[in-house]
Amino acid sequence: MTRRIALTGGIGSGKSTVAAMFTEINVPVLDLDQVGHRCLDGLVVREQLQAAFGADILDVKGFVQRKKLAAKAFLDTKTTQQLNRILHPVILAKEKIWVAQQSAPYVIIEAPVLLESAGEARMDAVVVVMADLALRRQRVVERGYQDAAAFEQILKRQCDDVLRRIKADYILENSGELRVLTLQVMTLHQQWMRDYG
Ligand code: ADP
Repeated sequence: MTRRIALTGGIGSGKSTVAAMFTEINVPVLDLDQVGHRCLDGLVVREQLQAAFGADILDVKGFVQRKKLAAKAFLDTKTTQQLNRILHPVILAKEKIWVAQQSAPYVIIEAPVLLESAGEARMDAVVVVMADLALRRQRVVERGYQDAAAFEQILKRQCDDVLRRIKADYILENSGELRVLTLQVMTLHQQWMRDYG
């Protein structure tokens, strides 16, 4: 039985960095954000999104314009829940199929907003990456996709580190050097290969 290990944490905590480390040692990794993005191309999803948020979230060819959708869907908790009701079942189905195709002792499911939707229930364990907020802000801005304002916007939509600590089975501390993070990842890998292998 392949175990599902969720990898989560706030923006800029180092999830993608950790995911890349697992990939490097041949542990299968599924990025649920990416799965979610691909789901937006589905015909049924597009129709449901149009019904919920209006035709102007689509371009002339009928494809979802992600920025326009985000502006409408992340307006408040009600609209966010509406988006989740449409996307979650599709994402979960894809995750289930992907896990069934794996033969490794365990897989990593990178899920930035897992805890916000009580997703930990379907996982065998939850790993949370943590780093000081100021460091996360600095690293995100340096990464270059988001400025400080965008960072704050995303931060507002995510749960806080107190809740993450409560829900975590394992914590990766990433306020230090990458070398220290690698060591923690390798230790967990060895433990899971022993436990699940
Ligand atoms: P997340 O996926 O959680 O948003 P990333 O893994 O993309 O976070 O990390 C944010 C940025 O910080 C990236 O540019 C990454 O290369 C960098 N980073 C992550 N961990 C460290 C670290 N320990 N030291 C220095 N830079 C780091």
